[in-house]
Amino acid sequence: MTFNVQAIRAQFPGLQGLANGKPFTYLDSGATAQKPLAVIERMDRFLRSEYGTVHRGLYARSVDSTRAYEQARVSVARFLTAPDEKNIVFTMGCTDAINLVAWSWGRKHLKRGDRVLITGMEHHANIVPWQITAELTGAELVVCPILDDGSLDMEAFDRLLDSRVKLVSLIHVANSLGTINPVKLLAQKAHAVGAKILLDAAQSAPHMPLDVVDLDCDFLAFAGHKVYGPTGIGVLYGKSDVLESMPPWRGGGEMIEKVTFEKTTFAPPPARFEAGTPPIVEAIGLATACEWLGSLGWADIHAAERDLYAYAEAKLAEIPGLRRIGTAAERSTVLSFTMPNAHASDISSILDLEGVAIRAGHHCAQPVMQRFGVTATARATLGVYSTREDIDRLAAGLRKVAELFG
Ligand SMILES: *Cc1c(COP(=O)(O)O)cnc(C)c1O
Repeated sequence: MTFNVQAIRAQFPGLQGLANGKPFTYLDSGATAQKPLAVIERMDRFLRSEYGTVHRGLYARSVDSTRAYEQARVSVARFLTAPDEKNIVFTMGCTDAINLVAWSWGRKHLKRGDRVLITGMEHHANIVPWQITAELTGAELVVCPILDDGSLDMEAFDRLLDSRVKLVSLIHVANSLGTINPVKLLAQKAHAVGAKILLDAAQSAPHMPLDVVDLDCDFLAFAGHKVYGPTGIGVLYGKSDVLESMPPWRGGGEMIEKVTFEKTTFAPPPARFEAGTPPIVEAIGLATACEWLGSLGWADIHAAERDLYAYAEAKLAEIPGLRRIGTAAERSTVLSFTMPNAHASDISSILDLEGVAIRAGHHCAQPVMQRFGVTATARATLGVYSTREDIDRLAAGLRKVAELFG
């Protein structure tokens, strides 16, 4: 199949129609992606005629539902090129997946004198869980600085990475900057000092093929709703021996082998980390999203997004006074910027009147804003359905902002 953006757009009911009387121009896929019919219809069909509980019922409906849920795990494993579906833990989101590692792996393996190394471009989801775990374990959180273009300071990284570091936890593609980190190289460096590595792949999973074996990461986390799947579901990939070394973090049904009031033994991973009734419908929707995205062809997705990103960068460069934040050599699909005299929320509100939806704020990355001396940026992000017309409408709206505030 060749990549035809109009044919792709036609599969997204959420993109049709008007906003404020103008064609709806959705440029906030970095916050959450719209849903294709394949996902909507699969979840609808499952809810109408296949729905039942999993892992519990002995009747046909529940057995079939269990099979669909476990097949979803197989699809997600394939999406990440994971060795086995047992490496895939379903969580409530990317935030939840990182919290799982912080609470379970962190409390088991971190102690006073140990360090967790993150970077200056993390989403709050990869900062706050480590602050809480550091407080509990006595381990120290260390932050690798970033350079003026938004790339990682590799010299500082090498300096900070020593045998005290037990975990490197970092963002793969920065949501506030677009920076693509050299994560395969960083994994090699982490392993050389005996540290594990976690990749926050929330922004990379929608835009590039991920091969956890090739990357050699110990953990990888992403969110369903950013890869064109539903909310309420995310994924933690973990290497088998690492997951097996981890205690449960939430107790309840499903995650046990045997319970008595005296002692409980726990199920092996991934069930050990999935206490309670899981997000069954959402897991099936996520698997469909992964299959749908893969079916478009990564080479074509990549080429189309690169082309559109270059077009968008050229258009933004023509807007008087516009300052881009995040200009690393390796960057993708995120356009963060400020404009003189106009607050990011002014920019967003004026664009909204033109039907253009972008994000304004700190993007859950307040330390990044502090690093660049701003309180907020305006941010446009691309998806597989984004077009040059979307960018033209963005640019036209930004010209109005420049005239009004210039
Ligand atoms: C969105 C995002 C998260 C958090 O994802 P949730 O779906 O809110 O759990 C974490 N990291 C990055 C880089 C993100 O973009």
